Amino acid sequence: MAEPAPARALGDLSPSEFAAAGHALIDWIARYLDEIDRYPVLSRAAPGDVRAALPAAPPDGPGSFAGLLQEFERSILPGVTHWNHPGFFAYFAISGSAPGILAELLTAALNVNGMLWRTSPAATELEQLVLDWLRQLLGLQSAWSGIICDTASIATMLALAAAREAHPGLAIRQRGLAGRPEIPPLRVYTSGQAHSSVDKAAIALGLGHDNVVHVDVDDAWRLRPDALAEAIARDRASGLLPTAVVATVGTTGTSSIDPVPAIAEICEREKVWLHVDGSYGGIAAVVPELRPVLAGVDRADSLVVNPHKWLFTPIDCSAFYCRRPDALRRAFALVPDYLATTPADDVVNYMDYGVQLGRRFRALKLWAVIRVFGATGLAARIRYHCELARELARWIDQTPEWHRVAPVPFSLVCFRYAPPGLEPAEVDACNAAILERVNASGRAYLSHTKLANRYVLRLAIGNIRTERRHVQEAWDLLRTAAAAVAAERRSPDQTPATRRSARSSA
Ligand code: PLP
Repeated sequence: MAEPAPARALGDLSPSEFAAAGHALIDWIARYLDEIDRYPVLSRAAPGDVRAALPAAPPDGPGSFAGLLQEFERSILPGVTHWNHPGFFAYFAISGSAPGILAELLTAALNVNGMLWRTSPAATELEQLVLDWLRQLLGLQSAWSGIICDTASIATMLALAAAREAHPGLAIRQRGLAGRPEIPPLRVYTSGQAHSSVDKAAIALGLGHDNVVHVDVDDAWRLRPDALAEAIARDRASGLLPTAVVATVGTTGTSSIDPVPAIAEICEREKVWLHVDGSYGGIAAVVPELRPVLAGVDRADSLVVNPHKWLFTPIDCSAFYCRRPDALRRAFALVPDYLATTPADDVVNYMDYGVQLGRRFRALKLWAVIRVFGATGLAARIRYHCELARELARWIDQTPEWHRVAPVPFSLVCFRYAPPGLEPAEVDACNAAILERVNASGRAYLSHTKLANRYVLRLAIGNIRTERRHVQEAWDLLRTAAAAVAAERRSPDQTPATRRSARSSA
């Protein structure tokens, strides 16, 4: 038999090469995070640029890590939108903090698969522990069991699967839904402002998109409990089966908070599963004075909060809590011979609580973040973001022609530039043009949504590196862009399109 080739010839690095490459990489990351302000926050790459900059075929032989790092900087970095940039205000702004980034490296080094307790006891037990820490930080009761998912979308799908399984008499797990006229359509209720992951979960579980009922909201974009009660009553009268309600604490569009206590009341009365999507807003309960945002959640059946949204944990890390883990287990436990453990293992095997078998050691990064920042450190950062958002809201409220279109319970501000005398569609177009200009500046990146069918700008603060000066700069950019858009409207000959065509004909 041939002698095995030395590690280097196999393409891996020797320990000393690994250490040298690792130090260079850590130095690069430290510089990157320190100087991140210098990069354009929104990538300026055009479609296909990144692929075109890299070889179309894989390399024949081994290459050096130093060469790889150079290629990364040259060809890949220009195609990166910098979510860790303090001027990132789009979607729900997120960030990876230093403890989280370093813990990701440890996770990769250990490379364990925590599918069963015994495949790495530390992975399971740290996950249980750190989710219990997070539960305590959120001020929730001890009746919750947690599991880390990759995203809130998957957590919500697991919640709806458990809700379905909470009707064991229907035997849906065993017999499915198709070809069974005796089973009424299972209905899911959520607000018109809920995240599309609720709809997707219903689609994936075969409940049918038509069976997701989007209940009306009030004038602060919160689900109306009276409309929910009516919808459930109407469905029951028609022979449909109300199965789950998804309430949101911090909706994507405006960060509105559905009235969970009143919704819980209805769910308890109707024996309907209540899932709370607090993936962004729920995290704010880490701040003691903001704990009331989770009022009533202890009466829900399940809850998701995303440390990867607003708890400075690198994506992906979504904490899914359930008060009825038996229903979740009934939905998913399935143990083939090759995964069976001895009866003496009286432990949690996380593979029993979801679809996936293999699972990363994600608990390490959440543990690192909570352990390094501590409860007060986390609360201080989130509190600061909320203060910054309130300050921006004040600037908007004090500026003629700018209008806030939703309350600011957290760190998201929704607003519009609306000079008088314009049709609503013209105002929409102005705001879209303003957004494009600000995002093209490379200094800030905002997103938009539609509320009551009108175009609205969203500025979300959630990055650990964002300071007051970054919010001030974004506000200056917005006003400068609005002035330029208004000037273009006054002299339409000077629109970018006409300027371009004038140049090309010159
Ligand atoms: N729920 C809400 C309220 C959200 O805002 C989002 C994403 O922004 C999601 C769910 C989906 O989160 P994820 O990307 O973790 O699936």
